[in-house]
Amino acid sequence: MITRRQTVTVNVGGVLVGSAHPIVVQSMTNTDTANAEATAIQVAQLARAGSEIVRVTVNTREAAAAIPEIVARLEEVGLRVPLVGDFHYNGHILLREYPETARLLAKYRINPGNVGAGQHHDTNFATMIEVAKEFGKPVRIGVNWGSLDQQVLARLMDENTAAGSPRSGTDVMIDAMVVSALESAQYAEALGLPHDQILISVKVSSAPELWQVYRRLAARCDYPLHLGLTEAGMGMKGMVASSVALAPLLTEGIGDTIRVSLTPEPGASRKLEVEVAQQILQSLGLRQFLPQVTSCPGCGRTTSSFFQELAQKIQDYIRDAMPQWKAHYPGVEDMQVAVMGCIVNGPGESKHANIGISLPGTGEDPRAPVYQDGRLLTTLKGPRIAEEFQDLLERYVEQRYGRQETPA
Ligand code: SF4
Repeated sequence: MITRRQTVTVNVGGVLVGSAHPIVVQSMTNTDTANAEATAIQVAQLARAGSEIVRVTVNTREAAAAIPEIVARLEEVGLRVPLVGDFHYNGHILLREYPETARLLAKYRINPGNVGAGQHHDTNFATMIEVAKEFGKPVRIGVNWGSLDQQVLARLMDENTAAGSPRSGTDVMIDAMVVSALESAQYAEALGLPHDQILISVKVSSAPELWQVYRRLAARCDYPLHLGLTEAGMGMKGMVASSVALAPLLTEGIGDTIRVSLTPEPGASRKLEVEVAQQILQSLGLRQFLPQVTSCPGCGRTTSSFFQELAQKIQDYIRDAMPQWKAHYPGVEDMQVAVMGCIVNGPGESKHANIGISLPGTGEDPRAPVYQDGRLLTTLKGPRIAEEFQDLLERYVEQRYGRQETPA
């Protein structure tokens, strides 16, 4: 049982973030925000994949001007996902020049390392906080080690040098990230932004450093924390790195919203980062998004590809059916499905699932017993085993989770 670190609750456009609420999955677009059509399409894809908050870059006047059209396009297709504006360098200008954009965004991300240097730093930061206050918006103080506030870092480095036994540069850098985030949050509050309109993130790209920086931050405040490994990388590397980085912190109760920063393969869908984030939370038992398909790895007893194909088909079928199922069958996300390769563990594992199939291994009788709620339901044979199992699965969902018709 994981006990969440206690935080206040922040309302991000209707999505509640904090320890009293489920950990929120979020993502970010990689389209040019000035292209309202392309951005709205990608936001919709991410939201439909399960992203509960979507962040967009707001880096130019054209991007800022496109936000109302993006929101309108999303409303046209019935999507009300909160949009977060990601600001660097010129957020104070864009938020003032585009008040409708400031009003429509659900949250502003402010990077204290990228709001200007010297006295401009505080003035620019203060302008963004003034806008947030005016429109009642929360902000994320998003510190990133690649753009760490150099003034804070220099100050802590000097203090470290003057100390009797200086600490390592990495250790000081980790402290500087925490100090930068907390001092910015305190300054925002001093400017009048309510305590429960602030979230914090302190992202680095190495898992052991991420653990350190978030543990130090978590011990020093009760702001909700946005958790993520920055620049996680591509494909399998990015997925493994993000899982390894986030899991220990989530297990310790640290983290109230997560983003998995994957570099997509060329031409690949952006929604993979949402699916990975969901799978991390689901694997830790923190949230349930879709039925879990248990499939064995296969071995020398499964020499044909039929078993892998069926496991893949069922997985895809469930993912595709989920939007419909979710609307009509409450609780279906808790269902367990087993797709097993042979008689060794197949019947046992299938009996533990809500519904499971044990395929015939090499040399076994070409029959596939199907178990439902621990009992043998039927035995499938012939070339249509996959389709027939899919039908049984659909029937089970209907019977077990009941059709809840929405009144006309
Ligand atoms: S259930 Fe059978 S096919 Fe699957 S891994 Fe175990 S022995 Fe191999």
